Amino acid sequence: MRFASIGSGSRGNATVVQWRDTTILIDCGFSAKELKSRLQPLELEPADIDGILVTHEHGDHISGVGVSARKYDIPVWMTVGTAHVFNGGKLPSLHRFHAHDTFEIGDLQVLPYTVPHDAREPCQFVIQSDAHKLAILTDAGSITPHIIEMLDGCDGLLLECNHDPHMLAIGPYPPSLKTRVGGRLGHLSNQQAGALLEQIDTSRLQHLIAMHISEKNNQEQLARDILSQAMGCDPEWIGIADQQLGFTWRELT
Ligand SMILES: [Zn+2]
Ligand SMILES: [Zn+2]
Repeated sequence: MRFASIGSGSRGNATVVQWRDTTILIDCGFSAKELKSRLQPLELEPADIDGILVTHEHGDHISGVGVSARKYDIPVWMTVGTAHVFNGGKLPSLHRFHAHDTFEIGDLQVLPYTVPHDAREPCQFVIQSDAHKLAILTDAGSITPHIIEMLDGCDGLLLECNHDPHMLAIGPYPPSLKTRVGGRLGHLSNQQAGALLEQIDTSRLQHLIAMHISEKNNQEQLARDILSQAMGCDPEWIGIADQQLGFTWRELT
């Protein structure tokens, strides 16, 4: 199984996962045109995508879902709650699921799981092949026992490191937004991400990528330092998902 990001952060998110002949996109916060150009470095075309999984209805995850699904005829999966508030127009093929349902797309097994975030029915995903378990966790305000259970023993982990609490506190956001981002239904700080790593089995972990990093309230090095401390590894081993560039293919072996 291999995976990549074509951009991560509050200005747009999309993650690619590929196994054998199946290629899926998790979220699409980019226009159809931008999706095509951002897939090029990965040597992918939008037509190669077998499905778009949506985590929740915030614009940085969903703004390109409707246009891209229509333009490239891609089926879309989202929770019943997300579908209820989806306003991206008619989709060629919409699969509604509940956040505890498991389903398959081609050769990939998809295990959604619920997260505390200020959206209608937000979820995140564990993607499994017969050999590997890849987990993504962004847009969660706090860590729950359910999250710990779902992420335990994964081979690859894409983990939100949204903000540094001190930078958020002294940063440019208005007080209401600071409260939201740092709150129980907001986003994970570097410290919360590090604390999660100490509560799950990371013995199989081949790749750890810091995701959804705030451009105003965080720095890559702060995220690297906290995650590497929690892992007891070299800070350079921690991958970074960039807003503009994402990160290129990583492979689970
Ligand atoms: Zn987001
Ligand atoms: Zn969100």
